[in-house]
Amino acid sequence: MLNSGMSAKADPARAGQPGASTSLDAYLPNHGNGGYRVQHYDLDLIYRVGPGRLEGHARVTAVATQALSRFTLDFAGLRPTKVTVNGKAVRHVQRGKKLHITPPRALSDGGMFVVDVRYVGSPAPVSSHWGEIGWDYLEDGVIVASQPIGAPSWFPCNDHPSDKATYRIAVTTASPYQVVATGVLESKQSSASTTTWDFRLSQPTPTYLVSVQIGRYAELSYGTVPMMHAAVPARLTGMFEHDFGRQPRMLDEFSRMFGPYPFEQYGVVVVDAELDAPIEAQSLSVFGSNHVDGRRGSERLVAHELAHQWFGNSLTVAQWRHIWLNEGFANYAEWLWSEVSGGAAAEVHAHRAWRELAERPQDMRLADPGTRYLFDDRVYLRGAVTLHALRLRLGDDAFFALLKVWTSAHRHGVVTTDDFTTLAQRHTPWPLTDLFARWLHSPVLPEFPRRTPGADRE
Ligand SMILES: [Zn+2]
Repeated sequence: MLNSGMSAKADPARAGQPGASTSLDAYLPNHGNGGYRVQHYDLDLIYRVGPGRLEGHARVTAVATQALSRFTLDFAGLRPTKVTVNGKAVRHVQRGKKLHITPPRALSDGGMFVVDVRYVGSPAPVSSHWGEIGWDYLEDGVIVASQPIGAPSWFPCNDHPSDKATYRIAVTTASPYQVVATGVLESKQSSASTTTWDFRLSQPTPTYLVSVQIGRYAELSYGTVPMMHAAVPARLTGMFEHDFGRQPRMLDEFSRMFGPYPFEQYGVVVVDAELDAPIEAQSLSVFGSNHVDGRRGSERLVAHELAHQWFGNSLTVAQWRHIWLNEGFANYAEWLWSEVSGGAAAEVHAHRAWRELAERPQDMRLADPGTRYLFDDRVYLRGAVTLHALRLRLGDDAFFALLKVWTSAHRHGVVTTDDFTTLAQRHTPWPLTDLFARWLHSPVLPEFPRRTPGADRE
């Protein structure tokens, strides 16, 4: 609905100024930039943990989607020292959370260009509705958790989930620290006192799912296809091995239900600090020390984060308003894991969630919850109950067939609520219009769903 490149072109007031800042997303209008799409980020970062000092070099390869006489990147709190476009020095101004760039000659529509930005500073998280997010400090290291708008705190980018790109991320820091970044570790080279860790992320990835973790961790690996690895404070490794020990089986069950796991590996970092909630990154999840208790007390969150690798990470929302496609699905995956691992059936969880929702305000439309409710737990719970209602309507065979077609048709792409409802309708002769109208588009909580007689036979 807000294809900025097109609207900038169509607006006569902007004639002669293509690339003027336009909005990609009604929820977060100041994030994301029109006029181009990024293909690849190449990041070299030198970081000193003690003083928290970052020296960065970003090469952003992009394609113009219109003629561009100037354009912007999202970039917050760090100081660019040199900026070139296609090797030529350019005029650049840092204003607020945007880096404004004016190349000497307009870039042509459809042309590829490389923006090269060298920068320095002490990264700080970005303030948002959802607290401080982005590059943040641990007592002895770094955590990066960027959803939804923290990425510009550490690299210049087009910060919108619809603009997915590949990455190379090299981090140089003092040798006693482990570095875990999104992607496959390709090399690790040590000099006198520092080590450079070089990661490659070859699946298209939105900026908010790119991450760097730095700390003093013990490294573990387990499972083979995909390779599973973990970085955990040494004192927690025993409890971690118990608490996360069922992850390989979880991955098998999810692959059976959702289709093939979308990446070549899966990593977990447990930071040496308590976190309100774990957070997903591309082929990586980050947990707090409070999520490791030796009793699998947070196993539902282990399932939730793993499920995001399909729902959110491989299939990414085209606009933030479709967030239930991430959180409703990840929440439902918690219940599916419970069901197949000897816990309560999804039906029991769904009923409990429905009762909780019934006591809460009914002022939010799941398919368009608004910025304030983007990560409201009603998005998670109602999203999951909606999927349960759909499962009862379709029957298990058609429901799980739908999930597999959903993840394969849009693998490493971007998705909308309409994409999902249209595909769902193809999996049953029973009309779904009413079900989706009530569950997705009306704020009133529908009655608890009942199994459609005979649905399993369809
Ligand atoms: Zn989630």
